[in-house]
Amino acid sequence: NRKIVLAERPVGLPNENTLRLEQSEVPTAGKGEMLLRTVYLSLDPYMRGRMNDAKSYAEPVKIGEEMTGQVVAKVVTSDVDGFAVGDFVLAGNGWQDYAVSDGTQVLNLGTDPENPSWALGIMGMPGYTAYAGLLKIGEPKAGETVVVAAASGPVGATVGQIAKIKGCRVVGIAGGAEKCAHVVDNLGFDVCIDHKAEDFAAQLKDACPDGIDVYFENVGGKVLYGVLPLLNPFARMPVCGMVAWYNIPGLPEGPDMGPAIMGTILRMKVKVQGFIIFDSFGPETYKEFAAEMTGWLAEGKVKYKEQIVEGLENAPAALNDLLLGRSFGKMVVKV
Ligand code: NDP
Repeated sequence: NRKIVLAERPVGLPNENTLRLEQSEVPTAGKGEMLLRTVYLSLDPYMRGRMNDAKSYAEPVKIGEEMTGQVVAKVVTSDVDGFAVGDFVLAGNGWQDYAVSDGTQVLNLGTDPENPSWALGIMGMPGYTAYAGLLKIGEPKAGETVVVAAASGPVGATVGQIAKIKGCRVVGIAGGAEKCAHVVDNLGFDVCIDHKAEDFAAQLKDACPDGIDVYFENVGGKVLYGVLPLLNPFARMPVCGMVAWYNIPGLPEGPDMGPAIMGTILRMKVKVQGFIIFDSFGPETYKEFAAEMTGWLAEGKVKYKEQIVEGLENAPAALNDLLLGRSFGKMVVKV
């Protein structure tokens, strides 16, 4: 059984000393338990936060403990009602080959799900994040302008496609020409702007001639500063993440943007609401999401792109790729 544990807490970007691959015996499941073999491991930006010993919505990973993460696994042995050998399940087993479970917080995906890994993406946490954050907090109306960054990633891509379904003008922001082309040509956004462009703020202004009504905040940094002067009165800002700042210890360099941010919120009467997907919305919202998203995927109204990396041992490098914008689509490790 291979597992990847947190060896030391990184300052800035994780490096080769941050995570360590360990070998141990395959655990055995006892009475009322099942043995699960990981098939796919999800990599997500929040994992960087779990490496810090800081107050957050979830406990940090302890030194020497395996990294947390959602997996799609296969049942190898089972003494748990409702789970049979061969079933695919969604579970929080972390970065390891095998885990023992009593079935708590494990979702059975059946013996033959069409796209098992999608439970980690479009049909799972990132898809639901996009759906609930946009519709319940962003409340987009037809004809309004919606802006979202990390637009080729699982959250941003879904936000933009749902906003198109709702009749909005959708402006994506992504890193590089290839991602921007995908966002417009395959995902159907109206425009996509490269945040690495020198004149990014000017391009964003041109792309939003009627201002911005919903800014779905995924990244912070330069993108947020470009958005601020364009926000319309009563704009909504679901605050989902700020990946541009995840690797910065302390405060970023440069001028203090606090007054500009708070001043805009005040003058433009912007509704700003942070949310954590695990506990910010009720079970009804989840049911709505699962039903609507299943329909949209079947009708081809929502498209989904994954990047599959082979091998658990390659997960640490893949996580850094994700944090640095070198992933393209939902990052999943085939274990
Ligand atoms: P992605 O797979 O899209 O990966 C993150 C992307 O962020 C990178 O690929 C990169 O895309 C972009 N990025 C990185 N650095 C910068 C930067 N400095 N400026 C602009 N863009 C940058 O991630 P997800 O779709 O999984 O997650 C998107 C956001 O949603 C994250 O902030 C994440 O933490 C958050 N999230 C929050 C949840 C919640 O409950 N609140 C739940 C799930 C996700 P590019 O190359 O295009 O710039």
